[in-house]
Amino acid sequence: MKKVLSLIIAVVFLFVVVSCKSKSNVDIVSTTYVGYDFSRNVAKDKMNSSMLLKPGEELHDYSPSVSDIEKILDSKIFIYIGGESDSEFVEKDILPEINKKKTTVINMMDVVKNGGHIYDEEDPESYISDETIDEEEEEYDEHIWNSLTNAKLIINAIYESIIKNDSSNKDYYLNNKDLYIEKIDKIDNNIKDVVNKANNKLIIFADRFPLLYFVKEYNLEYDAAFKGCETSKEANPLTIEKLTKKISDNNIKIIFTIELSEANIASAIVENLKKEGKNVLVKTFYTMHNVSKEDFEKNMTYVDYLNINLNSLKEALN
Ligand SMILES: [Zn+2]
Repeated sequence: MKKVLSLIIAVVFLFVVVSCKSKSNVDIVSTTYVGYDFSRNVAKDKMNSSMLLKPGEELHDYSPSVSDIEKILDSKIFIYIGGESDSEFVEKDILPEINKKKTTVINMMDVVKNGGHIYDEEDPESYISDETIDEEEEEYDEHIWNSLTNAKLIINAIYESIIKNDSSNKDYYLNNKDLYIEKIDKIDNNIKDVVNKANNKLIIFADRFPLLYFVKEYNLEYDAAFKGCETSKEANPLTIEKLTKKISDNNIKIIFTIELSEANIASAIVENLKKEGKNVLVKTFYTMHNVSKEDFEKNMTYVDYLNINLNSLKEALN
């Protein structure tokens, strides 16, 4: 399969080089939603942005199509996470073929290694600072964008690449970037405020848990059906029992699932609690893995989702 992919990439590369003209007409290509959202909010109408993951698709099952590869090789700026979902195909098959004079590559994980936060999925208690990052280690939790500190670093890196490509519109991009970061800062302060005032600091995810960066940033306590983002959708009955007890003992009124989830575990927990005569509400907490088709058409932004999360958090912690 890998050989086939390499062959396809080689053929596409040849085609792009020989044809010498833009096929995709996309300036900024991102493997996933956040890179797309950040770049379109800085570049606005001066550059085209697109994401390769289709709306509604599972991020962790993504693999590139021929036209995706074409778009990457043809882009001015290419953004990828640099974690387990995209680094393998990018680093083995794309980077050796890319024309570095034409395309600036942004590895978001590399960006946050300088001044941002990185956590080890297997050992969330060990905060990894710049000094302790092991370049050979590949177990870092890749959901780095759920730290607002990291998100701002990534936006700044995207802005730097954009102005390198189009310095004549620097003021325009700077203004867009500053406005977007201002919105994020405002939400960041509001979240801090909500958490500071809350009596309860515990949030429960009846789902996968790609939010280690978020809970660490605000010192929230958490429990979840899965550690990190294991793609297994079936929860162990003991896990369901354990979470049900925790919700009941702590008098939790709202529990969370993540976007595009089938919410089987949440339904099982709701049923269990009903038997005890207790009601719990299930809400979606947006982790920005991807957007639904519907939200994509509505142009929902990272900031829009943060605002929804802020309101959900306010309800859940009170
Ligand atoms: Zn994930």
